[in-house]
Amino acid sequence: MAQDQDIANTATFACKSCGASLKYKPGTAHLVCEYCGAMNDINPPSTPIEEQDYETFLSKAVTETDQLTIAAVKCQNCGATSSIDPKIASSLCPYCTSPLISANAVDEKMIRPKSLLPFLIDAEKAKSEFQKWIDKLWFAPSALKKAVIQADRFKGVYIPFWTYDSQTLSQYVGEQGVYYYTEEQYTETDSKGNTVNRTRQVRNTRWYPVTGQLDFFFDDILICASKSLPVNYVNKLAPWDLKNLISFDEKFLSGFICEKYQIGLKEGFDLAKAEMTKALESKVRQQIGGDDQRVISVNTSYSSVTFKHLLLPVYLSAYSFKGKIFHFLVNARTGEVQGERPWSSAKIALTVIGGLLLLFILYLLFKK
Ligand SMILES: [Zn+2]
Ligand SMILES: [Zn+2]
Repeated sequence: MAQDQDIANTATFACKSCGASLKYKPGTAHLVCEYCGAMNDINPPSTPIEEQDYETFLSKAVTETDQLTIAAVKCQNCGATSSIDPKIASSLCPYCTSPLISANAVDEKMIRPKSLLPFLIDAEKAKSEFQKWIDKLWFAPSALKKAVIQADRFKGVYIPFWTYDSQTLSQYVGEQGVYYYTEEQYTETDSKGNTVNRTRQVRNTRWYPVTGQLDFFFDDILICASKSLPVNYVNKLAPWDLKNLISFDEKFLSGFICEKYQIGLKEGFDLAKAEMTKALESKVRQQIGGDDQRVISVNTSYSSVTFKHLLLPVYLSAYSFKGKIFHFLVNARTGEVQGERPWSSAKIALTVIGGLLLLFILYLLFKK
């Protein structure tokens, strides 16, 4: 398909006025020409973002319209596959700072995202949010703080996610515990050294077998499909304003990096099931009721499973410091900053010594 060829080469879109390449301007619905400043509108399809049926999608033959092709390079170090601007000879992997060579780019096919949240804040704003955040880290090494800010490595990356909906039906076997109290005799030695007999209330649990059934519908379980980012920090970037998702349009990608999922559709659903299982167990406990519960088995069937593949915008900076990679992430919708907190052992030692010194001075003062 000719159109498919275009897609692979359209990491850039041409300006209608001068033909130069266009970049998406965060917070708007336009592409802006870096050369003549002309605004070119993006008109994303206003069709509602539909869920795709999971089973149907897996069993049918993949068609061209199901796919998106991007010119991408796979990082040999961390395994991330990200889009690359063919005009730049080399760059650094946004996740691990290893060098990436544009000449190694290949047409990478992936399940076409159905929707995305475009970048809302620009790189300058992200940087200032990050500056505020890192200034608050008292115990971070000053050299690292300075280096990270100066490096200006913030790259706008669309991170791939899956969301799943599922109807669940669980059959469970468990026990309901009901508390009852009994009196118990014990002896105690009082202050005069005499042994005295006393009684106290003791709590016991009586267990009753329970079986039951639980119906529950899960909506939009969000699973990060990147493996090159620390998942706990990615999760802390939430909440995302998913109600503002718009239909996917490649123009929103221009000027930004797009990562291909490393966690596929099926693996993502396994992760979603693990989350659902955890949530269902606490729902089963609620339904068993009583004072305490034992869950012996929960057998869940999943039906009407649907999914969406979507891209969420993050400014990302990876920085290698003393042989360790530090990741800093900014939610490009809210400005929320997350990252690995570096600790300076020298600063901590100084603070501890300072504290001890203060105690010692106070001690000397009070002694007088
Ligand atoms: Zn132009
Ligand atoms: Zn990498």
